[in-house]
Amino acid sequence: MNELLSIANQNLILHRHPRNKKETLQAWDSADEYLINHFVDNNLAEKIKNEDELLILNDGFGALTCFFNEIKRTAVTDSYLSLSSIKLNMQRNRCIEENLLLQDSLQSFPENIKVVLIKIPKTNAYLEFLLQKLRAVISADTIVIAAGKVNMIHNSTLQLFEQYIGTTKTSLAKKKSRLIFSDVEVAFDAETEEKEIAITWEVENHKWKIHNHANVFSRNHLDIGGRYLMDNLPDGDFSNIVDLGCGNGIVGMAALEYYADSKVTFIDESYMAVDSARINTLKNFEEERSDNARFVVNNGLVGFKAASHDLILCNPPFHQQQVITDHIAWSMFNDAHFCLQEGGELIIVGNRHLDYQDKLTRIFGDCELLAENKKFVILRAIKA
Ligand code: SAM
Repeated sequence: MNELLSIANQNLILHRHPRNKKETLQAWDSADEYLINHFVDNNLAEKIKNEDELLILNDGFGALTCFFNEIKRTAVTDSYLSLSSIKLNMQRNRCIEENLLLQDSLQSFPENIKVVLIKIPKTNAYLEFLLQKLRAVISADTIVIAAGKVNMIHNSTLQLFEQYIGTTKTSLAKKKSRLIFSDVEVAFDAETEEKEIAITWEVENHKWKIHNHANVFSRNHLDIGGRYLMDNLPDGDFSNIVDLGCGNGIVGMAALEYYADSKVTFIDESYMAVDSARINTLKNFEEERSDNARFVVNNGLVGFKAASHDLILCNPPFHQQQVITDHIAWSMFNDAHFCLQEGGELIIVGNRHLDYQDKLTRIFGDCELLAENKKFVILRAIKA
């Protein structure tokens, strides 16, 4: 697999993070290359002077952030894994740290932006969130360029640019990617800007109101896998519980309710997910109970102590960015094995066809089927 990006007189070594032993994918794509070449060919660096800045939204693993090393810039992502990749690739390529501000999606954008480069995210909701926030800080002379794989750019994508930025056109496709150019024309209107992109719905059989920021997994409805896990919590007297990959927090909230004296740690790699889980727990539980919850943005359980928990609940992810993968689930199961006390339990829900049973048996030595329906299985692995 190629780790060397040679482009516009720069050579960058770029890795995806977390490392996957069987990695076959590069840490950049043809949309990154298209953006970089366009920027260089059109000498856009000239537009960014003195206190001006380049804003990079949604850089996957740091190709863009590392390439524009000489330019003062802010890079924004909702992913802890992307943020860690950017940092590691910056170090690997000896980039200048002073020129860069790395921010998560919930922080405010800087105000003196002259050029914006956007990698198209997976969902329109998150794109809309970013464009809305962007519109509040850019002016008529800001250059807005986005890029993505052809199959990620739909009419609805372009409509969002028209709605929030202005007249929008696309480039020819190159290596299955396209650029989007949007002229800043739409007047900034505080009322439009206040449109709430996060949504809220209720959970059947609970009185919970579930808030979902723009980039939260299954933001429009309760995930059926998550629901099945909530309904099949194991009996037992657990005290230190983790909701691993918590999304909006529904599984951890079910645990907080079911195990009366427990402490629950909600973990996700999405800043928006962890913030939604925090909002949901504080809104739906009395202080006495919500005081026993903590919220951590992290890569799985990396950095957590050995034998520190007695129950880990997980509805594992099967994507990293746009790519379907099982290596994050694998590392979550390994992390769980390390962090469970003797006799502690990992309970997971998964689509029947994913064969998590085999993975869990290899890591824990055994694995038991707790429940099943047409679509899902609930599996229990106990730390020996
Ligand atoms: N628990 C929620 C539910 O049941 O609706 C969400 C489950 S969703 C299938 C998996 C979650 O894992 C996503 O919210 C995703 O952001 C998160 N995730 C992905 N990779 C992760 C990682 N390396 N560390 C922590 N969380 C991760």
